Amino acid sequence: MSTYLGCIADDFTGATDLAGLLARSGVQVSLRIGIPKEPPRDTAPFEVIALKCRTAPVDEAVADCRAALAWLRQTGAERFFWKYCSTFDSTPQGNIGPVAEALMADLDTRQTIYCPAFPENGRAIFMGNLFVGREPLAESSMKDHPLTPMRDSNLMRLLAPQVSLPVGLADRLTVAQGADALRAALDRLEAEGIAHVVVDAVANSDLQVIAEACRDMPLMTGGSAVAMPLPALYRASGGLAPDAPGVSIPSLPKAAVLLSGSCSAMTNAQVAQYLASGAPALQLDPLDLAQNGHGAALDWIAAQDLDRAPLVYATADPASVRAAQEKLGRDRAGTIVEEALAACAVVARDRGARRFVVAGGETSGAVTQALGVDRLDIGPEIAPGVPWTYCDSNGSRIALALKSGNFGAAGFFTDALGVS
Ligand code: ADP
Repeated sequence: MSTYLGCIADDFTGATDLAGLLARSGVQVSLRIGIPKEPPRDTAPFEVIALKCRTAPVDEAVADCRAALAWLRQTGAERFFWKYCSTFDSTPQGNIGPVAEALMADLDTRQTIYCPAFPENGRAIFMGNLFVGREPLAESSMKDHPLTPMRDSNLMRLLAPQVSLPVGLADRLTVAQGADALRAALDRLEAEGIAHVVVDAVANSDLQVIAEACRDMPLMTGGSAVAMPLPALYRASGGLAPDAPGVSIPSLPKAAVLLSGSCSAMTNAQVAQYLASGAPALQLDPLDLAQNGHGAALDWIAAQDLDRAPLVYATADPASVRAAQEKLGRDRAGTIVEEALAACAVVARDRGARRFVVAGGETSGAVTQALGVDRLDIGPEIAPGVPWTYCDSNGSRIALALKSGNFGAAGFFTDALGVS
């Protein structure tokens, strides 16, 4: 099957979020971790490549995204999507604009749109200004982000220094008139030489209009939400065959392990609720790991009945995290925990675990790497933005649920085991 839409995401959990929304259509979605080394084969109708380039140096981000595009073009795809964060995480140097401009040049296209809106998650754009809930972006907590502090809410002003070609706006009044009016406005802007068009959206119905107007653009850019209507539109237009392969859910043994390295408020609540259910659990202490290694944790997991879905967690409250970081340094504390959880995942797999629930973005990266996973097929959603995924690890089919920080409700761990 050749690919209909090729997507490039600037980080891993963003790629999972996009892949999950596309998979809501029931059409097969495949997520590749990094640029595949081999030429495409067994490709899905929707392919998503997860990169790690949100805060990489501009040249590196551009080179990675161009390489990802080149691979996606080999799948037969003719439409592409550049996915970034719904809070437009970037600096005056990039990387959103420079990557878009490079992809446009490679695709020989003169215009693209920018729509990071995600109304269901409180991200709306009005007159080119991005809102987080009721606050303008620059007044939200994003103003203090450690890597990409967002000090302006106006997407045109944020984008202009990142690109060389003119920036314009298709505002809500145009979007409200429907897809044909928006298409005509985009054509007019293109005739005036406007290459980069920010498009307003405050509600899901706006995203539907935008997707309809832009579905045949060689390149669309935005958050995940504006891509959500695309599968149905491609089906309705006949571009995507009605018999396009769907999500296939393997039947896997019950044996499971839960690994939690996220220390977010929600993950703390999720661990507390799982502990209260009486499930077997082991708490990792970074100081103990630093002193004695993680051998004891591996012995513990090796001795567990995996049908009872044991939990290994380093999840702790902010004061304990700070204490560990003060003694070990933030990076060392993080790495020690990630390595221990990743090693537990491998032991569990070798002892028959076939379902893995992992909490934490960085933790997920460490676990997938240790399991040797480079491709995930997207399955049913457990919670918004967190689908089950299926992949091969050391010759066995396994299921992975990768949850970043604050995703999911308090019952997430039990919910996940119920869905798979
Ligand atoms: P999130 O998605 O919530 O940001 P991540 O896995 O990306 O979660 O990041 C959490 C980081 O905190 C990881 O590097 C993890 O190893 C580290 N960590 C986990 N538990 C502790 C702890 N008790 N003390 C210090 N650092 C920890």
